[in-house]
Amino acid sequence: MNIYSMTLKDLETYFINIGEKKFKAIQVYDWLYKKRVKSFDEMTNVKKTVIDKLKEDYKINKLKILKVQNGKDVHKYLFELHDGNKIEAVLMNHDYGNSLCISTEVGCNMGCAFCESGRLKKIRGLDVYEMVLQVLEVEENINVRVSHVVLMGIGEPFDNYDNVMKFINIINSDYGMAIGSRHITVSTCGIVPKIKEFTKEKLGVNLAISLHAPNDEIRNKIMKINKVYPLKEIMSAVKDYIKETNRKVTFEYIMLKDINDSKNCALELAHLLKGILAYVNLIPYNETSHIEFKKTDKNKIMEFYDILKKNKINVTVRKEFGSEVSAACGQLRSNYEEGNR
Ligand code: SAH
Repeated sequence: MNIYSMTLKDLETYFINIGEKKFKAIQVYDWLYKKRVKSFDEMTNVKKTVIDKLKEDYKINKLKILKVQNGKDVHKYLFELHDGNKIEAVLMNHDYGNSLCISTEVGCNMGCAFCESGRLKKIRGLDVYEMVLQVLEVEENINVRVSHVVLMGIGEPFDNYDNVMKFINIINSDYGMAIGSRHITVSTCGIVPKIKEFTKEKLGVNLAISLHAPNDEIRNKIMKINKVYPLKEIMSAVKDYIKETNRKVTFEYIMLKDINDSKNCALELAHLLKGILAYVNLIPYNETSHIEFKKTDKNKIMEFYDILKKNKINVTVRKEFGSEVSAACGQLRSNYEEGNR
């Protein structure tokens, strides 16, 4: 077990079980997340016998950074995990802070037709520490504080649910990284039972739904998960979520040329979201090796935007980050695998 997989509560239980006071957990957290030590030996206010026990029971090793690509306001990381698998994280400098997009799985089984990550089927979900360390390593590498975390890298967070919940607990803990719940966003392609479970957690973190289509006909073509959980079920789960949590939901909508970008699609989308506490994030498509998908022109994106606005839907167009550093989900890994180093 890696120490970075432990929630504060897990550590408290651990210390109680070995006959120590539970406040030791806070001390260890302080060393890990505030002082950022790299070994147990540096935890100088913890007595030797406890240090030895920690060394026996936990690993404290980090991830390996294989490659960093720096662009304007964007830094993209390729990490190697202990078993040789590779994942990505992307840091974006916004005017409101530094937002890190992290991966939650090695590969992905959701099979969205336009997405690069899904080219590699899921090998495994990430362990908690592998998510925590993406944040710690990026902070150390460029000496910044990550203020926002979005779970929008490789993988489907709700397909690795328990580990993702622990990860959120750790980065959100005041004794850990203390990243505020309002600054954490989980994005899902729409796994309905997990949206329902997530509703009950009452975590106060943001929920984003990768919608990408205003009806089942189009959505079935580009997101195969829709055949399992159609729009009607997603919308019903989202409405319950809003009722329970009183939190606004983000709907992500990638603009794909001639697929989901018509005026009719905009009207249909406005109708679907009418009266819901939501906002739409229109995403310029990052072109990938899926050559059948092209990005919608800027004018057409603005036309789509205007229709939503006129119909009183909150909408923004996402700032384009990192197309120059192949920052579309999964692109860095797949380029690397192809020998394009
Ligand atoms: N599986 C989760 C989170 C990872 S994908 C989800 O589906 O939400 C994160 C977001 O990036 C999703 O909205 C996804 O549809 C989008 N995305 C994938 N490939 C993209 C591309 N080439 N250009 C722009 N957005 C992309």
